[in-house]
Amino acid sequence: MVVIKSLSEIERMRRAGRVVREVLETVRGLVKPGATTLDLERAAEAKLKELGAKPAFKGYHGFPCVLCTSVNSEVVHGIPSPKRVLKEGDIVSIDCGAAVDGYYGDSAITVPVGEKIDPKTARLVEVTQKSLHSAIAAVKPGATLGDVGAAVQRTVEAEGFSVVRDFVGHGIGVHMHEDPQVPNFGEPGRGMKLKAGMVLAIEPMVNAGGPDVQVLGDGWTAVTGDGSMSAHFEHTVAVTPTGASVLTE
Ligand code: MG
Ligand code: MG
Repeated sequence: MVVIKSLSEIERMRRAGRVVREVLETVRGLVKPGATTLDLERAAEAKLKELGAKPAFKGYHGFPCVLCTSVNSEVVHGIPSPKRVLKEGDIVSIDCGAAVDGYYGDSAITVPVGEKIDPKTARLVEVTQKSLHSAIAAVKPGATLGDVGAAVQRTVEAEGFSVVRDFVGHGIGVHMHEDPQVPNFGEPGRGMKLKAGMVLAIEPMVNAGGPDVQVLGDGWTAVTGDGSMSAHFEHTVAVTPTGASVLTE
């Protein structure tokens, strides 16, 4: 069931969204060669506490941390670790969710480590972010989930990259995951019609190689099937009477 949010609920979600943004920007500033993904986790946990927000991921189906940190060929759901040392030329995808007064925000960024990024990897990161922006541009009442997915897919495939199928975006509100599912692929005009008051977490996951992913033995970390690099960007987006409002910026 898709829950339509009132304007006051959307403003409460914007507060959660701002917290998530602040956490991600804090953590982005700490990404450098020699930092560990646990360093990022610790900073995020402290920031969430300072801002009085509840972490959304820690304890969710037993996930142990407040961030997902996914490096290079890791697609999503990487677990922060003191053993995972970031190196020059890596990319790290950082995903954070938080609740404020019972309403959730969810956002992700992919950040290059250091200055010497391989040009194809830099392009992957740019195109993934661009695909999120094209999806947001497609959001308005009367548009469909197929329009949103097609916008991502078109942007990504034009560059020879591929969209992950096994994980999708989602509705969000008083739960981190609500209906509907928001695929990053689709056909224009197909699928559920969007209405003002829907709030969606749109989150393209894009692989430099093929679309396949597999989950490692830790039960969480999803990696590309072919070892290629992967990037991930996400915003929480409200459908407004005239278009879209991004709640996590
Ligand atoms: Mg997320
Ligand atoms: Mg999400």
